[in-house]
Amino acid sequence: MENKCICTWLDQMANDPNVPITYLELSGRYAFQYTPRKNVYNTLYMDYCPNCGGKVFESNKEVLIPEEELKRLKSLTGNIKTVEDAVKVLGKPDHKETSTTVSYEWQNHSELAIIEGFELHPGQFFINLQKK
Ligand SMILES: [Zn+2]
Repeated sequence: MENKCICTWLDQMANDPNVPITYLELSGRYAFQYTPRKNVYNTLYMDYCPNCGGKVFESNKEVLIPEEELKRLKSLTGNIKTVEDAVKVLGKPDHKETSTTVSYEWQNHSELAIIEGFELHPGQFFINLQKK
């Protein structure tokens, strides 16, 4: 029987904008996303907690978007591959932020979730859903 992660380290790291660990709502997994060198983008999923060594289950996340709503949002955003697609499907973003990556937010497509878009590099775009 594997030990389950019982700490909140991954959540804390995922909420820290200076740490390249993200909680990916669509897959319900934590991932280490980094750019080891120019034009190389890596996503390493973290199924074990580096802090306590326990296995990370999807249910670790206290508040998940309900399945029905998640399904609806996945089908809404499923074909989005670029920022241009996103604007076509979702409209003008409510928020745009530029740091090491460019991130966008759409707040009005769901009562429960914010749709986030990340452009790691032109042509490298992905959607994440965040509980409101
Ligand atoms: Zn842990």
